[in-house]
Amino acid sequence: MKKTVLEIDLKALEHNFSVISSKLKPKTKFMAVVKANGYGSDSIEIAKKLVSLNIDYFAVAFANEGAALRRSGIKTPILVLLPQTESFAEITKYNLEPSLYSFYFLDNFIAFLKSNNIKNYPCHFKINTGLNRVGFNDKEAKKAITKIKDCDSVRLISLYSHLAATDDLQESKFTLSQINLFKKISSIIKSELSYNLILHMSNTSGIFNFPECEFDMVRSGIGLYGYNNHLKEDLIPVHRLRSVISQIISAKKGDYVGYNKGFICNEKTKIGVIPIGHADGISRSFSKGAYVIVNGKKAFTIGNICMDVMMVNLTGIKSKEGDEVVIFDKENNAEDFAISVGTISYEILTNLSKRIDRKIIN
Ligand SMILES: *Cc1c(COP(=O)(O)O)cnc(C)c1O
Repeated sequence: MKKTVLEIDLKALEHNFSVISSKLKPKTKFMAVVKANGYGSDSIEIAKKLVSLNIDYFAVAFANEGAALRRSGIKTPILVLLPQTESFAEITKYNLEPSLYSFYFLDNFIAFLKSNNIKNYPCHFKINTGLNRVGFNDKEAKKAITKIKDCDSVRLISLYSHLAATDDLQESKFTLSQINLFKKISSIIKSELSYNLILHMSNTSGIFNFPECEFDMVRSGIGLYGYNNHLKEDLIPVHRLRSVISQIISAKKGDYVGYNKGFICNEKTKIGVIPIGHADGISRSFSKGAYVIVNGKKAFTIGNICMDVMMVNLTGIKSKEGDEVVIFDKENNAEDFAISVGTISYEILTNLSKRIDRKIIN
């Protein structure tokens, strides 16, 4: 197939799942984070594979992502991390489990459940322990729990929080203070409610770096796809992005390449035209300093990345039209590609647009 294709390696996913699982106590539940189309891959194929591996839970960011999983036949419980008040009907229709994270959301959701005569709806309670992104803080948590106790609309399944810096061992004191605060707040809540609750806090790098935040369940996203921030572990990248040399253009010294004379040739230059651009998720910031792999050699981008196309310098690289181009794979992975322009693997992967055909392998 001579075009741009994103290959999704389900065997690599299985490998990563077992590597991460091996770090956990046998009883610890595993929540797979499949938001943003499975970190830019294919959330449905990823979820189906994980169901076959007996995954306990899924997490998505928004209700529509959970609805898509349900429509594809996924029956596993699904936590919606950041549901919005417009999504109440979608949440209950598809049996999705929302995170309760603010009074605005909580009050409106309880009112919705009451007016639809729904009781004991499964929900998850989000505590802010220092990331200051989403969730109830120490003081708000008590008031929110009182509201929950005083109505029969909501039943809590879990209490959770999110860590800010598990990928940075320099910040372990901060991480431990978040863990301690979570322990403190969750034990107060547990004593208030008479039923059992799942506690969870850890993301991928928490699993590898902070076993003390394992609790009853972990939430892993990036690790399942083969990355653990900048830390090298025995994980295999699931995404392989490849394209093709559509055309080779010979430019002479003094010629320009791309919009706005983005590049000037200092010598006779062999230009490779690659059919992938910023509309596919390769940001314009890759115009300088990024490279792709052509026949085992690094070919640097030249000129500005266009909407549908980018140009690379093939001078001195044995190559012809129709040859494969690797943007990233297991060897030259998305983290290396990301670092070349100062971003992170998460952003590269989740930017990969719908226009790129996905191909499931293994
Ligand atoms: C995205 C997300 C995760 C997954 O984090 P990874 O670093 O990809 O493992 C876990 N928890 C929450 C709340 C998230 O938003």
